[in-house]
Amino acid sequence: MAPTSFTYDFSDSLLGFKGKSTFSTGLFLDGKFVDSVQAGETTDLVNPANGKHLCSVTVGCEKDVDIAVECAQRAFDNSWGIKTSGQQRGRLLLRLATLMNENIDELVALEALNSGKTYNRAYGDVVGAASVIRYYGGWADKIHGKTLEVDDSVFAYTRMEPFGVVGQIVPWCAYPIGMMSWKLGPALATGNTIVFKPSEWTPLTALRVATLIVEAGFPPGVVNIVNGYGNVVGAAISSHMGIEKVAFTGSTLVGRRIMKAAAESNLKKVTVELGGKSPTLVLDDCDLEAAAKWAAFGIIFNHGQTCCAGSRVFVQENVFDKFMEKFTAAMKAVKVGDPLHPETTQGPQVSEVHFKRVMNYIDLGKKEGATCYLGGERHGVEGFFIQPTIFTDVTSDMTIMKEEIFGPVIVVSKFRDDEELVKLANDTLYGLAAGIFSQNISRAIGLANKIRAGTVWINMYNILHPNVPFGGYKQSGFGRELGEYALENYTQVKAVLANLTGPPRSEVVWVLDS
Ligand code: NAD
Repeated sequence: MAPTSFTYDFSDSLLGFKGKSTFSTGLFLDGKFVDSVQAGETTDLVNPANGKHLCSVTVGCEKDVDIAVECAQRAFDNSWGIKTSGQQRGRLLLRLATLMNENIDELVALEALNSGKTYNRAYGDVVGAASVIRYYGGWADKIHGKTLEVDDSVFAYTRMEPFGVVGQIVPWCAYPIGMMSWKLGPALATGNTIVFKPSEWTPLTALRVATLIVEAGFPPGVVNIVNGYGNVVGAAISSHMGIEKVAFTGSTLVGRRIMKAAAESNLKKVTVELGGKSPTLVLDDCDLEAAAKWAAFGIIFNHGQTCCAGSRVFVQENVFDKFMEKFTAAMKAVKVGDPLHPETTQGPQVSEVHFKRVMNYIDLGKKEGATCYLGGERHGVEGFFIQPTIFTDVTSDMTIMKEEIFGPVIVVSKFRDDEELVKLANDTLYGLAAGIFSQNISRAIGLANKIRAGTVWINMYNILHPNVPFGGYKQSGFGRELGEYALENYTQVKAVLANLTGPPRSEVVWVLDS
């Protein structure tokens, strides 16, 4: 059967792209869109803004993953890996980044349509994704080992070598195209080939980027995309004997499954970027107006569907009332509605399933005795919209204080002094991010050093740069994405020692310190 396809007419859109977008939604194997070997298996995508059918997408199976791995291995052996120079790989990545920028309006429209992300937010994400690809294009010819001083009889050096075929599994949330760029950029720059699985809910921008990968001139098989479900395609990738490394972004629950599958198959290397319950610390010496706006941005950004969402706010008790006044005003100013409308700042949750999950957390908060200070209900009657919601009087044992909600729902509590603040902020299984608001830089940096999280923002929130690493402490995962650090995820170090003297050597290798 022919693979499925997507067609959408954006002519009536108020912003940016006005044309028709059309491309295949099949599996992308060896540079072509194809049907699954289990011909005819598809899944339906739904527009989260109105609950209506968007398109069908071909769904892959275990055998398709086998084929993708074969394509990727062939490409690694014949036209990528050591068969290319860093310069060649860099040029292709730069070309891809340029093509993403040239098609930015369409990519933005697709991202907003598929995920419910607001158009303006999606714009930032696509610009960011292209920047990340460009950033790693710049790295491709600057990855090298070292020569090591041993003694005159040995020439020793290291090489940073790619793994070969790597598996990459990303979530629907936050930034489908952003997550794709974070994964593809460092893996391709370092010479790996890829079997990529987008989320079953948000594959559209990944598939459109696949057409740009072809246009940029990447050899077939360097990037392969297998759409489908986590328990089938994702599980096949993480247990595949032909995949040397898997990089995963998603929930802590699935991260554990992937680690287990990797351990029980070929001990493939794993990096996992997982969930969070990040704290925002509002100190009594901060600019309260700015802190309130950043705190609202910290939770409303992508409707709370961000791993680093600032979902727990701790406010010093002597400024609590003033902060709440300003914060409530900022949350009330959020414009919930059509993600394709220019003024919207909060769109729908990504799906009905997820909408219900978030509403269930809101009900739990109410039942467990927290005060629903603002919102707490569905917004409107169609689509998956939720009111910006604030809870107060939340104790450390309540579910909404402990678990990642992934919606526009925030808990606000008081603290007395910095000692208590550090305890409260670190009282979580997660450690992805934190925000600190203070005009006293010594106090802010002192606290930043005590917070157990991979990223700490001071007087801002949710700001990312291609060259600044991002990743978690504790159950938020390990490995770092972005920046130079991400190159380590995709390289292994080989040490080469050459004997320069000829005859066998009998001296001891280790010398005792005297
Ligand atoms: P999820 O864990 O449910 O799914 C993520 C991906 O894993 C999807 O592609 C899914 O199909 C796949 N998957 C599901 N079961 C699998 C299995 N058994 N084996 C292999 N793959 C499987 O996450 P989600 O709901 O799509 O996204 C939300 C989560 O992602 C949140 O917890 C969020 O915090 C996290 N996240 C983390 C970061 C980060 O950088 N730390 C960034 C974005 C999102």
